Amino acid sequence: MKEYARKIAAYMEEHRQEMVEFLAEFVSINSVTYNEKEAAAWMEKKLICFGYDEAYIDAAGNCVGRVGSGPAALLADAHMDTVAPGSPELWGFNPLEARIASGAISGRGVVDDKGPLTALVFAGRAIKDCGLGEKLCYWLSASISEEDVEGSCVRAMMELNPRINPEALIVAESSDMEIIRGHKGRALIRMEVTGKAAHASAAWRGENALIKAIPLIQALDRHECAREDPFLGRGSIEVTKVECDTPSLNTIPGRATVIADRRISCGESAEELIEELKPYLELSQASASIDTEMVTTYKGYKIEQVDYFPSWVVEESHPIIRAAALAYEELFDKKPVITKWDFCTNAAYLSGITGIPCVGFGPGDHTLCHSTGEILSIDELVQSAAVYAMIALDYAAGR
Ligand SMILES: [Zn+2]
Repeated sequence: MKEYARKIAAYMEEHRQEMVEFLAEFVSINSVTYNEKEAAAWMEKKLICFGYDEAYIDAAGNCVGRVGSGPAALLADAHMDTVAPGSPELWGFNPLEARIASGAISGRGVVDDKGPLTALVFAGRAIKDCGLGEKLCYWLSASISEEDVEGSCVRAMMELNPRINPEALIVAESSDMEIIRGHKGRALIRMEVTGKAAHASAAWRGENALIKAIPLIQALDRHECAREDPFLGRGSIEVTKVECDTPSLNTIPGRATVIADRRISCGESAEELIEELKPYLELSQASASIDTEMVTTYKGYKIEQVDYFPSWVVEESHPIIRAAALAYEELFDKKPVITKWDFCTNAAYLSGITGIPCVGFGPGDHTLCHSTGEILSIDELVQSAAVYAMIALDYAAGR
């Protein structure tokens, strides 16, 4: 496979300039979550132009491409949507006009996730152009709406096309060129506290639901998750929002809603998460449920998404992680760091819910995501494209 790695690395070097131009053009297309229409149409055209065997936009609005029809089916995902560009004053330039200087490219989305997606696109193209993919079926998922409800649109993509039936996944998000074999899951828990509304001048006639919620909020704040995963560590719970139902500001609220973000590290089920909170709920006579969100994509496609995604971990000995480590070694003559992500990605659904083994990898520093300082090394961009292609080729070869 060393010979393949040399070919792929040379191909990516030859296409360095084109890759940078591709990413700069991609950045110039504003694709804030739920507004990815133009980016999807652009991406579909590019995939066709690059000789992908298939490219289409699905009913939800994801752009999907395919190279090869071999037995080793992989799905490689990165998202097209970004957070809002942010003000040019804070960036020091227009973040939709990528800036290229000193071997790096800056602008909204270069790290999260347009740079990694660019690398995936060129990986598929290289596999095709180098004629190395006869064993592979490389599905490229340029997905939407990840920033708001990760997992929901890739779920739609797979449900809409049963031919997408991968043995393993590559999720491309920045990882500082480290190999990722797991991340915590998450759930949004909605807790309702019921009191009795009354005019504030005669509060004794009612029961203030907000005050009644305080013992619950304090207990959640003190909670430490008992179970610990040896790789992912402990889960956590944080109160993120409190809402009151009150018709006016001189009425004590009859209902308070407490929302908490729960990070999951031990594969706890939704029922277990609620069960664990029972003693705290009793303090405020509250009820709890997992939140459900309605996603409406730019195509008007509606997805009801339960806000619960379990953690996922893939063993180092699994063929997809071994393929990633091998790809890295073949390209760079050194061993990779194999670790975890501290944040949640589309792998929450793709691996957490479906159980399909996954490897995460990407160029760039994730702490820059969503900031007004997103900057990506062009060397890393080019190298990561080679890594993605070699992960696919090594996986197919080792199968
Ligand atoms: Zn991302």
